[in-house]
Amino acid sequence: MSPPPIQDPSTERAASVVASGEVFTSARAEIRGTDERTLAEQIALTEIEAPPFGEAARGLLMAELMKRSGLVDIETDAVGNVCGWLAPPGRGDRPVIVSAHLDTVFPPGTDVRVTRDGDRLLGPGIGDDGRGLAVLLALARAMSYSGISWSRSLLFVATVGEEGVGNLRGVRHLFGDGGVGREAAGFVSLDGAGHQSIVNQAVGSRRYRVSATGPGGHSWADWGTANPLHALAGAVAHFGGIELDGDATITVGRMGGGTSINAIPEKAWLEMEVRSLSEERLESLDQTVREQLARAVEDENTKRLHGSAAMGLEIEDLGQRPGGTTSPDEALVRAAVAATSGLGYAPELVASSTDANVPMALGIPSITLGAGGVMGRMHTLDEWYENSQGVLGVERALLTLMLLDTLS
Ligand SMILES: [Zn+2]
Repeated sequence: MSPPPIQDPSTERAASVVASGEVFTSARAEIRGTDERTLAEQIALTEIEAPPFGEAARGLLMAELMKRSGLVDIETDAVGNVCGWLAPPGRGDRPVIVSAHLDTVFPPGTDVRVTRDGDRLLGPGIGDDGRGLAVLLALARAMSYSGISWSRSLLFVATVGEEGVGNLRGVRHLFGDGGVGREAAGFVSLDGAGHQSIVNQAVGSRRYRVSATGPGGHSWADWGTANPLHALAGAVAHFGGIELDGDATITVGRMGGGTSINAIPEKAWLEMEVRSLSEERLESLDQTVREQLARAVEDENTKRLHGSAAMGLEIEDLGQRPGGTTSPDEALVRAAVAATSGLGYAPELVASSTDANVPMALGIPSITLGAGGVMGRMHTLDEWYENSQGVLGVERALLTLMLLDTLS
């Protein structure tokens, strides 16, 4: 699904010049010298719970740490995003935004204490996105203390609402009408671990909860009454038969209803989602979903309705993520590719669903980078992180931004 990494001799050359230059070398020493501090901040942030819609306490610590990392004009916006500038804004240029997300998938009351098992740190959210937040701070430090001069302003943001139910509300606000992101020249999200993947394609999605209701009745005595479960099952069979050519998926994830084995159900429900890299494709799949559900209910009504009341259908939107792509030819993607290979690793262009979905869909060049190290069991209580070459997460992000400054 992902195109091969591009080879661009001029960008590669720029990467090797910048990577071997004095400025990057001294920044690199700073990053390596403060690796333990970065790890300590990663643990401290992870140990403050940040369930969906409950990110405020972690946001407070993040604001304090941003200040200690050299950022200025730190503010928490109306939805809870914590923002800090590397250089004072107001130069009138279009900022580049670097971000990581505050929220986790874990509900309030989850034990978020971090424990050690050898080289492994264990704790819910330690990698996703405790690592991204810590690297955001390490990056700010390396930039403010290494005498790098930037041609544009840089805005650092710890976002709220990246995970499922948050429905990207942090970035939606940032890039909404009048939002500071609206004028951004680029967006880089630091999410999870690793130092090779570059997300330049946004997997968009639409999620639905569907309910069908009818009069219900006895399975023998009331036979002939429309059956909501039969109707939804008809639609599910149709969805299962749709041929998809690799750029989209359609999944019914949960289904249920009814009260007894010998009763015609009064209610049936299902939860489903469609995904695609293309916003157009999502629109057409959305239409298919609505049409097929309506048709399935109508078919059941037509077949079974013998004087009884007709079934009703309700489709509730559970969330939408826009899809999109930032071209491999875009300066930001070229910079990230060259930075990755400049550090000696093979870049991988991949598709995922992250905070970058929103700016990408707006046509703002956007990528998501891993924040270094290795992690596993993401989104479970057994989530772990190992700081194996974790510094590469900071170094790659820094080199990408330095190259972007050179290229554009
Ligand atoms: Zn994440």
